[in-house]
Amino acid sequence: MQAYCETEKIKNILTASQVIVVTSHKNPDGDAIGSALGTYHFLKKMNKSVQVVLPDSFAPAFDWMPGAKEVVFFDKNKKRAEELIAQADLIFCQDYNALNRLGNMEVTLSKSKAKKILIDHHPDPEVTQFDALFSDVNYSSTCQMIYTLVENLVLDNYLDADAATCLYTGIMTDTGSFKFSSTTPQTHRVVASLIEKGANNAAIHTAVMDNNSEDRLRLTGFALSEKLTVDHKHGIAWFVLSQKELKKFYFQKGDTEGLVNYGLSIKGIEVAVLFTETDERIKISFRSKGKIIVNKFANKHFNGGGHIHAAGGQSNKTLDETVNDFIRLLPELSKQNLS
Ligand code: 5GP
Ligand code: MN
Repeated sequence: MQAYCETEKIKNILTASQVIVVTSHKNPDGDAIGSALGTYHFLKKMNKSVQVVLPDSFAPAFDWMPGAKEVVFFDKNKKRAEELIAQADLIFCQDYNALNRLGNMEVTLSKSKAKKILIDHHPDPEVTQFDALFSDVNYSSTCQMIYTLVENLVLDNYLDADAATCLYTGIMTDTGSFKFSSTTPQTHRVVASLIEKGANNAAIHTAVMDNNSEDRLRLTGFALSEKLTVDHKHGIAWFVLSQKELKKFYFQKGDTEGLVNYGLSIKGIEVAVLFTETDERIKISFRSKGKIIVNKFANKHFNGGGHIHAAGGQSNKTLDETVNDFIRLLPELSKQNLS
């Protein structure tokens, strides 16, 4: 997989820019929010004028993050978001590889004349859309990349405790609390530096992970006991949650985050999938371990993509039709080997 590390170009663009917008993908996860807010605090310390603009809201588990209240959401505050994007002379595009990951914000961003810097760890970036790239699938998280970039620019004295807290959060969530195979010795070195800079690791873990509502915990229990199918023959397990079921547990954004991973915890299971029915579409989350990869399958059959071991997709069919399509594809999915 080709990597891009255009540190000099990034440095020159950053030096020449004063009004900066930091963006990340739709349905922002911990790494998206952490990297956006981490960059925000870093740039503020550098005396840049900076705003974070995200396509839509994030789970309440991240509300506590420093700077979270300053984020402008495109879906709720379109006029302000458009103004900020139009006025910017530089836009950071973080934790996504293609502008269509921005949902309804895509058109506004692609119209902007601002320089665009990509910082991301997904495969196959849309290279021509960006003026400078730092793109490498070998990093655990975009947050780890931001730290590395800042260190390579010899600007790490501008990383304060708030920035360190945000970057730590993103690394923690994207590595499943430092247990996924993407976690490297360098990940731990970066995390150690972030703790030295003021990230309170235990408090961050508690704030993100021990933040369940009673409804969320009961939804998890229901899904585990009633909504999980395990196919030992193909080594694949999947959850299916209808909108009616989600409503019964007063579903809020983020409530099914991490649920899919329980499927992978079953002995002999190498792929886990979660189907959730939303207002507009069926959302699908894929996770795998070992030799099986899921991003190509998500792209080929479910209009999605992502990392080799964590991908997403969607379907405009009904929930039942989508799951039936998927069941027909089980033999193919079980053979998605790395090489
Ligand atoms: P999740 O299952 O947590 O929504 O997403 C897992 C991974 O797949 C994330 O890295 C995310 O960026 C990626 N992903 C999720 N949905 C999509 C999608 O619709 N398109 C693409 N290209 N990637 C997705
Ligand atoms: Mn990420």
